[in-house]
Amino acid sequence: MNVFVFLGPAGSGKGTQAQYLKNEHMFYHLSTGDMLRDEVASKSKLGLRLKEVIDSGNLVTDDIILDIISSNISKIVNDSHYEGIVFDGFPRTIAQANGFKSILDNYKLNVDQTFLFDLSLEASLDRISGRRIDPRNNTVYHILSNPAPDDVKKHLILRDDDQPEKVSHRYKLYQEQTAPLIDYYTDSLTKINCELSIQDIYAQFDQHIKLFQQKV
Ligand code: AMP
Repeated sequence: MNVFVFLGPAGSGKGTQAQYLKNEHMFYHLSTGDMLRDEVASKSKLGLRLKEVIDSGNLVTDDIILDIISSNISKIVNDSHYEGIVFDGFPRTIAQANGFKSILDNYKLNVDQTFLFDLSLEASLDRISGRRIDPRNNTVYHILSNPAPDDVKKHLILRDDDQPEKVSHRYKLYQEQTAPLIDYYTDSLTKINCELSIQDIYAQFDQHIKLFQQKV
């Protein structure tokens, strides 16, 4: 079972490339953001607390995130039909990375590849301003580069935390809390330049996946 970690600010295309690994390479796509939004949608007590944190653009506490990972990982690791798991948006702090290491140790796994989806604040703001979500299945669209089919359009929303001032705040937190993971994962790190067109990002990523597969 291969373990991939995706690092990168909002709008860098982590979710899109994770979908590609899911559809073309039998990876399980584990997005902590999607899991948290599902909890919010369930309107549980925890969900209501999470909504406040997420909508403000802040990070959810490390213990909640590590609990979510520990309680979901075993059924995925034990399901032989997956070739790997891609962690999209996790870990986001050094404490999460340390906790993650202990969880993976239990399954004799480690992080095989870390992909850094690199993007400036300006590009992040630009991409996110056109991003729309179908909350029924968390599918992500973009008004220009990836428009939704006509029958889906009426369901689309702009996430509360995708408002420009929230995106700037999330970018700042990314620089402060998540960027230190670039050094933490330096031995397994591959950098993807996300200032290019979607097609070029796809091509770069695909090339790296093919290289990785040749090595294993
Ligand atoms: P995302 O969908 O990955 O952009 O995540 C949306 C929001 O969920 C983030 O802005 C955080 O509030 C929260 N979140 C998602 N993943 C994490 C994580 N690993 N650690 C802390 N908060 C997270």
